This record gives sequence, structure tokens and C-alpha cells, in this order.
Amino acid sequence: AKPDPIIVADHVTRSFGGIRAVDVSHIEFQRGCITGLIGPNGAGKTTLFNLLTGFDRADSGSWSVDGVTVSRMPAYRMARSGVVRTFQLTKALSKLTVLDNVRLGATGQSGERMLGALMPWMWRKQEAEITERAHAMLERFKLETKANDFAGSLSGGQRKLLEMARALMVDPKVIMLDEPMAGVNPALTQSLLGHIKSLGDEGMTVVFVEHDMDVIRDVSDWVVVMAQGAVIAEGPASELSSNSAVVDAYLGSH
Ligand code: ATP
Repeated sequence: AKPDPIIVADHVTRSFGGIRAVDVSHIEFQRGCITGLIGPNGAGKTTLFNLLTGFDRADSGSWSVDGVTVSRMPAYRMARSGVVRTFQLTKALSKLTVLDNVRLGATGQSGERMLGALMPWMWRKQEAEITERAHAMLERFKLETKANDFAGSLSGGQRKLLEMARALMVDPKVIMLDEPMAGVNPALTQSLLGHIKSLGDEGMTVVFVEHDMDVIRDVSDWVVVMAQGAVIAEGPASELSSNSAVVDAYLGSH
């Protein structure tokens, strides 16, 4: 298929002290594709997610969504531009209900940033359509029976589902999932995989970080490999194990 990138990023760098966590000269994510992002611990995958979704500021670089430059926008503006994410360590507000966590997703904020969005949001008249959409999301992720429970009472896997439900509230074009399967019990793993595939089937652009190569091969259309902050290889998932750079950088280390 002809390339049709929805996100294009160039020369993105981010250092912490002396460590260059991200040093990506070029990366793009194709519209409607499920891209698996892999690489050893410390390769910079999470930092790249943080930069592209406005949760951290790049030292340099530029990127665009659908041709519109969005570099260095804060997270809620990235969400409005159609790019949302979930976290490796889920960030639901544990003392709010499951339903309210999802409703707050409509602000485009996530994690502790939702707290800042909370008061103005509560003072606005509670919009029926937000509540309705939140319930639809809870149905989709089979969390409806938990709607009025504190988010803190959910299992690890249920929190991953809650994060996806929350992220989808803004009707995004791109969802970036940071290790959606980590810390999830086997019973929910299949369900999570199913949800990721469904998003792809619906035409959503999905980027996800994952360490399990079987999962990567099962779910991804395309795989991007990072090591030491840079993209070192990419290609169709089926060609992964025949790529010597991948084997050296990643598979060999496991
Ligand atoms: P993992 O698979 O373990 O999640 P990763 O590929 O997501 O790893 P990052 O978490 O992005 O890698 O880390 C890249 C590098 O940047 C690492 O050396 C890490 O220690 C460093 N780093 C990331 N965030 C910070 C921070 N806030 N302060 C200091 N160093 C950081």
C-alpha cells in the first residue's frame, strides 16, 4: 500500500543529564496501521511516547499530525489534535469512580493532569452527551458493572481497559498504548489483544509498546525497533526475526 503517514516526526531529541534518551532522526506512523514499537529496556520508547503526546518537552525536533505541525503542544492540545496515549503504569484517579475517570477523558487530559482539569469540569454543567459516551465506552470495555466503583478497586488489567476507555473519549485518530499487556492477568490478555485489533479494524491508527514478540507478530502490521534512543530498524512484523539488526539489538538480549 502507498504510504499515508498520519504522524511524521523529524530530528526529535531528549536528554536527561548526560543520557540521550531519544535521538530519532525520522519516524512516521501510517494511518490505520497497528505499529508495534519494540526495543530493549531504556531504548527510549516511553520517552518518545511522552514527547509525541505532549507529556514531556523535546529538546529539539518537529512533528506533525495530518500535516499540521504540533511539536511541543501540551497533552490536552495533542488530544484535541487527535493523539492520545495510555501509560505503562496506569494513572487512573483511584478516588474517583470508574465512570468519572472516563468522563474526565473528555477534557483530553490524563493521569495527574486530570486533577487540574477536574474543578472547571465539575463546575460546567455536566453534559449528557459526555456521560452517554462514557457509558458506551464502559460497555465496550466490559466495565459497565464497575461504573460507580472507585477506580482504585480495579485489577491491573481492568485499569488498562479503563485507560483505553478514557483515552477514546476524545474520538482520537491515533492511540498510543504503552505496554498495554504488562501486569495483566492471562484471562484479560486475550481480551486486551482483541480490543487492540478491533481499534485497528475500525481504522484507528494504533502504536503500542510491547516486549512479547508473539504478541507483536500477532497484532502488528508494522514494527519499529528502537535502541539507545534511535530507530534502528523497521519493517513488516513477518520479517522481524530475519532482520539481523533486530536480532542483535533485541532478540539476542532476551
Ligand atoms: P522500558 O522498556 O524499560 O520501559 P524505554 O524504552 O521505554 O524502556 P525510556 O523509559 O524512554 O526507555 O528511557 C530511556 C532512557 O532515558 C533511560 O536511560 C532512562 O533511564 C532515561 N530516562 C527516562 N526518563 C527519565 C527521567 N525523567 N529522568 C532521567 N532519566 C530518564
